[in-house]
Amino acid sequence: TLALRVRDLRKTYDNDVTALKGVTLDVEPGDFFALLGPNGAGKSTLIGIISSLVNLSSGSVEIFGIDLVRERSRAMREIGLVPQEINMNMFETPRDILVNYAGFYGVPRAEALVRADQELERAHLTAKANVMVRTLSGGMKRRLMIARAMMTRPRLLILDEPTAGVDIEIRRDMWTNLREINRAGTTIILTTHYLEEAESLCRNLAIINRGEIIEHGSMRTLLAKL
Ligand code: ADP
Ligand code: ADP
Repeated sequence: TLALRVRDLRKTYDNDVTALKGVTLDVEPGDFFALLGPNGAGKSTLIGIISSLVNLSSGSVEIFGIDLVRERSRAMREIGLVPQEINMNMFETPRDILVNYAGFYGVPRAEALVRADQELERAHLTAKANVMVRTLSGGMKRRLMIARAMMTRPRLLILDEPTAGVDIEIRRDMWTNLREINRAGTTIILTTHYLEEAESLCRNLAIINRGEIIEHGSMRTLLAKL
């Protein structure tokens, strides 16, 4: 089964803006996949639909074979979402943020504590487990956002412009972190408008423009064409 199977997906917002005009897309399990495109192309809309934040107008989406519309809560359990904006309580500690997030999604507390230690280690935040998030650097906060999404053990991790507005050091730091997660078996999809970022991280990609997929295939094939 594919990690993500999108067929003829359309989205028209209430203001009559059509953000997606029949998008078809496959992502293989284990892939590191980039969704590239300029501002306004429809990337956030597509990510929003896949993560159930936005309702689709027509078409279908399956996540590991689970239909997003008919079996929404089951499909959602396969997904971890890292939003673009940092949306954590600055006066909590990283450990509490991770444990509480897992608790919200029904992970038993003992298990949540184990996972929190694992994710703190993977994010290289063990030494910062018990300080206030407020005191973390920008890069640390970003890594913590990724660690939080991993607490539910998603098979598919989705990131919407994870490195928008962050400097190059933080960006490279996040790339390393994401590569480790992918290597451990999690399928990753990220949106970006930097080809350089997609090139450095991803095996496969789609390019979206004005709500339509204009390229879909391997990074190597695309780069050979340029
Ligand atoms: P970005 O591409 O950087 O994510 P967007 O242009 O998508 O920025 O805007 C960010 C937020 O504003 C998103 O939550 C999006 O849903 C919302 N938004 C964008 N365009 C409109 C619009 N025309 N009407 C209402 N909300 C919009
Ligand atoms: P991207 O993420 O590639 O920048 P978006 O999916 O945010 O693109 O936007 C695609 C189109 O849909 C844009 O024309 C945008 O203005 C519009 N749009 C996005 N979100 C909304 C919304 N909540 N309501 C109305 N229009 C929106």
